[in-house]
Amino acid sequence: MAKYLNNDVPLELLEQRLHIIRENVRTAALSGGHDPEAVRVMAVTKYVGHEAVLRAVKAGIRLIGENREQSLSQKYEYIRGEDLEIHFIGHLQRNKAAKVVRMADCVQSLDSEALAAELSRQAAACEKELAVLVQVNIGNDPNKSGIRPEEAQAFVEKASILPNLRVRGLMTILPLGITQAQTEEYFSRMHALYVDIREKNRDNEKVTMDCLSMGMSGDYKLAVRHGATMVRLGTVLFE
Ligand SMILES: *Cc1c(COP(=O)(O)O)cnc(C)c1O
Repeated sequence: MAKYLNNDVPLELLEQRLHIIRENVRTAALSGGHDPEAVRVMAVTKYVGHEAVLRAVKAGIRLIGENREQSLSQKYEYIRGEDLEIHFIGHLQRNKAAKVVRMADCVQSLDSEALAAELSRQAAACEKELAVLVQVNIGNDPNKSGIRPEEAQAFVEKASILPNLRVRGLMTILPLGITQAQTEEYFSRMHALYVDIREKNRDNEKVTMDCLSMGMSGDYKLAVRHGATMVRLGTVLFE
């Protein structure tokens, strides 16, 4: 599927699309017995420039995701004053951690102990507490990074010991080209894992499990039906 970078998508169209997305989220959450109000919509802005980000903010977006340090750096000076949470959602090289930590409120792609240590160190240097999500490779996909599901709980504990990190939940990216049944199976397993880890960390004051980030343009309704609390949408907003 080709991705069309459409920096010119008009405000009215963004508003319409966001309205439809919120309706879809509501229906999907209710169909799965989940609270529609608990689901946040992230605009993934990697395909567009800062003009489109600012338009998305006007349309009501309060959360954006970027998957590369460079793409975020190019926009940052234009968007930093906005009422906007910035999440990093791509594989992060340790040598880019310092820059990303300065700009981002949350890193969703925490996938190694070495990265966790580096993020905590850089967050300390900025005198901030960085929110992180643990990326889980739920499909055991060799092409995707992420912690193996059976190691996720132990990983959360290790990350939570680091002084300047706060573990807020889990994130996943599913393998490409799977059936709807497989998609639902993986989302449902992610939700079970999320609930389990949340229960086990009730008394850990460095862990606040309130975010299950899963679902993109092609499958966000299924993700919400299975308990996602955050969906990451690029194409359906900006195509
Ligand atoms: C690009 C990207 C998305 C958005 O993908 P769409 O299919 O365009 O909605 C979501 N999550 C991550 C991690 C991405 O890199």
